[in-house]
Amino acid sequence: MWGKKNVKIPVEISARHCHLSQQDMEALFGFGSKLKKVKQLSQPSDFASEETIDIKTDSSVLQNVRVVGPVRSQTQIEISKTDAVFLGVNPPVRLSGDLAGSQAVKLIGPNGEVELNEGLIIARRHIHCSPEEAKKAKLRPGQIVSVEIQGERALMLNCVEVRVRDDYKLCLHLDTDEGNAAGINKIGEGFII
Ligand SMILES: [Zn+2]
Repeated sequence: MWGKKNVKIPVEISARHCHLSQQDMEALFGFGSKLKKVKQLSQPSDFASEETIDIKTDSSVLQNVRVVGPVRSQTQIEISKTDAVFLGVNPPVRLSGDLAGSQAVKLIGPNGEVELNEGLIIARRHIHCSPEEAKKAKLRPGQIVSVEIQGERALMLNCVEVRVRDDYKLCLHLDTDEGNAAGINKIGEGFII
């Protein structure tokens, strides 16, 4: 089943969420607070926390946006294009961690607010995989591939970047707009072309 073409890959839809720095987390939830883990996510390093925040722009508010732990070095908020239109902003499509010059935004928590100069992005679609999985599937770090989704809303997703890390597990991450376009609700499967 592993070959140069048509490698089957699990697909997961990431709903809008937020990663927080320790400093911003404490500003939003109180000094000394910790994120409470509710659910392990498929990438072993990540968990959904009990905490949620609101995202505020000049024109709108998105409420109850899930915080994903653990804390990171920089706060990053990932929303869909539909969310961006609702909020009246135009964040760039970026890979996680690539935040320089991204959209400014205000976050509101139960204990306070944080005004960010950058950090709001639309996540660029990407594949997570471990070095072993990359080798088996003949994928290189940073490689751009296409993934075909089959079914009644079949479509081809181009410009998918491969991310390789020891603690990653093979999976294609899409946002809710992409999932809806492909007729995928939460989980599905695709084929790397
Ligand atoms: Zn991801």
